[in-house]
Amino acid sequence: MLAMNYRGPFRVRIQQKAMPEIQHPQDAIVRVTRSCICGSDLHLYHGLVPDTRVGTTFGHEFIGVVEEIGTEVQNLKVGDSVLVPFNIACGKCVFCQQGLYGNCHESNPQATAVGGIFGYSHTAGGFDGGQAQYVRVPFADVGPMVIPEDLDHDDAVLLTDVVPTGYQAAEMGAIKPGDTVVVFGAGPIGIMAAKSAWLFGAGRVIVIDHIEYRLEFVKQYAQCEAYNFRSLEDVVLFIKKTTGYIGADVCIDAVGCEAAGNAMQTITGRKLLLQAGSATALHWAINSVKKGGVVSIVGVYGPTDNLVPIGNVVNKGITIRANQASVKRLLPRLIEHVREGRLNPKGIITHRVPLEEVADAYHIFSAKLDNCIKTVLIP
Ligand SMILES: [Zn+2]
Ligand SMILES: [Zn+2]
Repeated sequence: MLAMNYRGPFRVRIQQKAMPEIQHPQDAIVRVTRSCICGSDLHLYHGLVPDTRVGTTFGHEFIGVVEEIGTEVQNLKVGDSVLVPFNIACGKCVFCQQGLYGNCHESNPQATAVGGIFGYSHTAGGFDGGQAQYVRVPFADVGPMVIPEDLDHDDAVLLTDVVPTGYQAAEMGAIKPGDTVVVFGAGPIGIMAAKSAWLFGAGRVIVIDHIEYRLEFVKQYAQCEAYNFRSLEDVVLFIKKTTGYIGADVCIDAVGCEAAGNAMQTITGRKLLLQAGSATALHWAINSVKKGGVVSIVGVYGPTDNLVPIGNVVNKGITIRANQASVKRLLPRLIEHVREGRLNPKGIITHRVPLEEVADAYHIFSAKLDNCIKTVLIP
């Protein structure tokens, strides 16, 4: 089969790879019909995620058709169209039982923090991902959901990560009616977090980024304010001023480890790798939220340390909430929002690219060319 293949930083290519096989009675093999490139795939592509091995296939956002099932799989049958959450979860461990499907204790033997994730390095279990014609799906009775008849498959593929992650970012913010919510990052996750903030009753939503076309996009798509931090002298001061010197009620970090905007963070976090990426957006979030406010983090950071102003967190009494989205827990609610027209996931798709052109697709997305927001690969 054809699959995206990692060759080292900034180098991916399409290659022939052995067909995945059933390795466990609870596995399924899925023929991929759509798969996306995620902003977090760029952290892998840029070589910033530890233990990203040459030869692995990325891709944790995909849908497809069940091709084969293991002998113990009961909830799926061959021919079902399924959407597959990016987290791999056993459904039985103490964390899955609490709905913490992103923190499954059984699906990632390499770590005690995050659970297994498709195509996200050996720190997340070493599973091959869905930027391929076929993919092996472990615990097939737990994660995959048969796509409802009335759900557009372009919407379905975005329900595997982007929508739940953006939505959970807003949910973790514990937004109260009328709250001012600031979202750092106007990538797909930030866009979806801004859109979701309204669903929780926000009174004002502000997005901060430095890529002009994305700021323009989010203004239209999420009906929010959007500002370029490069044209603001001091982003924290700006947020304080615009909130009557109180600070935002909720700040969301939808950027993670590759944030721009602070030379010291960029050099220590992205160039010298002395910390787990640049924590500029998180810095700004902590310093611009009000006393007693909430900082919600969904941006991806590596497992090592980051330089963040923890003293300000204590002295301001900030609540920090963070996690990988529990996709399975959120799906029923999100499908309701899509059905009612309150969320329009496919509205962020800007590019459709044949899987064969995956290398170009990574380059375009990484270099922020061609007004790219979200790319769907078609095998
Ligand atoms: Zn993703
Ligand atoms: Zn589990």
